[in-house]
Amino acid sequence: MKTNDYLLLLDADDTLWESALFFERTEHDFLNLMTALGLAAEKVRRIVHRKDVERLSVTGYGARPYMDTLRLIMLDLVPETPSWAMTAMDDIQKNLLYHPVILFPGVIGTLADMKKLPVKTIVYTMGEKDHQTDKFERSGLSSYVDELRIVPVKNVNALRDVLVYADVEPRNCIIVGNSPRSDINPALSVGAIAVHVARDRTWAAEREDFIDPGSVVTIESFNELSGILERFLKNKNTFN
Ligand SMILES: [Mg+2]
Repeated sequence: MKTNDYLLLLDADDTLWESALFFERTEHDFLNLMTALGLAAEKVRRIVHRKDVERLSVTGYGARPYMDTLRLIMLDLVPETPSWAMTAMDDIQKNLLYHPVILFPGVIGTLADMKKLPVKTIVYTMGEKDHQTDKFERSGLSSYVDELRIVPVKNVNALRDVLVYADVEPRNCIIVGNSPRSDINPALSVGAIAVHVARDRTWAAEREDFIDPGSVVTIESFNELSGILERFLKNKNTFN
């Protein structure tokens, strides 16, 4: 493993590759199924959104906990669920768990560029270990980064643990992600550098106001990262 003064933590879902897109497809398929069972889609959608937020504090993030939530909603609304609906749910689950890993444009080139920099790079993601590991392996990114680290939930404590593990000062840690709640605000809380990748698609539960908007560097595309990182290292911890 490289020893470096700087640590780059890269979020994976909706930062390196598409994720919310597939959760949206799952929700869409589920609502269609519930419509086929005689329920009003809008009513079910509201229940899904409420239960999704409720379950996050209990089950943590992940595709399977999300599917479990949908199954519970179905069984609650349609106690005598026909077997074809159970089969349809199995198909919806397969689509979510084994969706193709679609990297965003420029991710490979940018990571290849950044390999030249004296920075240790960890893909830092939350969710279920096996599902996230499987996506990472299928992404083909393992030779471009130093490590993969998966936690049940990305919060301030989880981030502090990574900093201790990597033995890096917060001011020398750059956190890149699309989620205000899981990436940017924990970064700001510990005094790390926060780079927000602005995405149209960000899961509703991940949206939150920045605790210190003036300190956030926002990029529209992953391509911009290698340039700003070079500038940051050259100018000794500022982006000017
Ligand atoms: Mg993300």
